[in-house]
Amino acid sequence: MPKFYCKTCCRIVSYAEADHGKFNNHNWECDSCYSIIAAKRYVVNQKGTTTFFSPGGRALGDNIMFQVIKDQYIKDNPDENVIFWDGHIEPESVLLYRPTKVFWADVTNWVACPAGAHKYKMSVEACIYARAGIYPEWKSFDESVDLPDKYVVISQRNINKAEEKNMKSEDLQRIIKFLPAMSILIVGNDMLFNNVEYGPYCVDYLKKLTLNQIAWVMKNASMVIGVDNGLIHLAAAAGCKNIVSWWYVSDQWFPKTRPEYFDAFLREDSYINSILIAIKKRLEI
Ligand SMILES: [Zn+2]
Repeated sequence: MPKFYCKTCCRIVSYAEADHGKFNNHNWECDSCYSIIAAKRYVVNQKGTTTFFSPGGRALGDNIMFQVIKDQYIKDNPDENVIFWDGHIEPESVLLYRPTKVFWADVTNWVACPAGAHKYKMSVEACIYARAGIYPEWKSFDESVDLPDKYVVISQRNINKAEEKNMKSEDLQRIIKFLPAMSILIVGNDMLFNNVEYGPYCVDYLKKLTLNQIAWVMKNASMVIGVDNGLIHLAAAAGCKNIVSWWYVSDQWFPKTRPEYFDAFLREDSYINSILIAIKKRLEI
């Protein structure tokens, strides 16, 4: 198999011969580094023209990342009329606006990308902006939740879809036993694990809080702990300064907040002992 060094991250990339043309066009950058929007690989600021963006996906994390892309695009292209489509989408929806440029996110995967569109990867663009210090910001907080003085938030992810992304119940059990005697707020839209003893300090807020309430709870938490999922994006965007999270797949992943606020573990490094050490360090226990 042919190989090349990615010009940006310097990793060795093996590729199928059929992809030679693609990588040549992509300036010999790997798929995790090649950017369209942040690198401005399009005609910038075409005055008076219309630009169309496909919807930013259905998941919370994608929508949080999309906000940065929207803000930066408008900043870079102030004289364009930009449509961020968020309704039902058909190929005809695009044509209605007669756009000069169309941007199509990889997460808009339930309808075919029209010919000639700029296809981009949401997480690649968001990681590039984050490396440059541009992070998503969540601005709507609902303060109507009574909070203890000091507490930890856990986003466990225990759902029946893509179960390999769930927190392992034995890891959660270790974390709950490890934490000192302080309130532990369990938030999310999932369900408690049957085989975990949550103990006297856990407060079950599952399915009881709105996103704006969760944002408020996370912003004020001593720490947010969880596997990679949309609520960890929310914790970062809401301004939590102590996050420990794991099960990240791409080694080009980058936290969407100041790196000192975040300990992230790649999937292959997600050992419970390393996670506990990170928690201990951050909580100073
Ligand atoms: Zn690369």
